[in-house]
Amino acid sequence: MDSSLIVTMTAMWQTSDSKAFSLAKSQAQKSFDEGGLPIGSTLVDGSGEIIGAGHNQRVQLADPTAHGEISCLRNAGLRGNYQDCTIFTTLAPCSMCTGAILLFKIPRVVVGEATAFRGDLDRLREAGVEVLVVDDAECIELMQRFMAVNEETWKEDIGEGYLPR
Ligand SMILES: [Zn+2]
Repeated sequence: MDSSLIVTMTAMWQTSDSKAFSLAKSQAQKSFDEGGLPIGSTLVDGSGEIIGAGHNQRVQLADPTAHGEISCLRNAGLRGNYQDCTIFTTLAPCSMCTGAILLFKIPRVVVGEATAFRGDLDRLREAGVEVLVVDDAECIELMQRFMAVNEETWKEDIGEGYLPR
């Protein structure tokens, strides 16, 4: 069999990912320090330049749609296309953020961890998106610290519970 005919979609860590992933993590820490959900995100273009960064602002802005990825995309502003972009997020994207990734045809997603929240990574993969889960110990630890004392806020963020208003 001609090995050149075998096409494999292998999600791989790239050297240029380090800076953007670190910034996503510091965005998560910033939100945690503000009393918010510790989820950060960055957007990088094909040249490796960071073109957007943001973090979850549900608590800070009282905005239910201000997830990390959405805040990042807002901060990046308008683009002609996202065909060479990678979005980094410290936690697996929820269905809203997965929808945004698919809507804007972002071809690559780097996920810090998918233990606190599994998301729907298969939906991304089935759509042809390259998904890399890093299993970063610091991302996992920060989410666990937040969830331990803010369970209701966390559940509300992912649509699994609502606080009395
Ligand atoms: Zn989300």
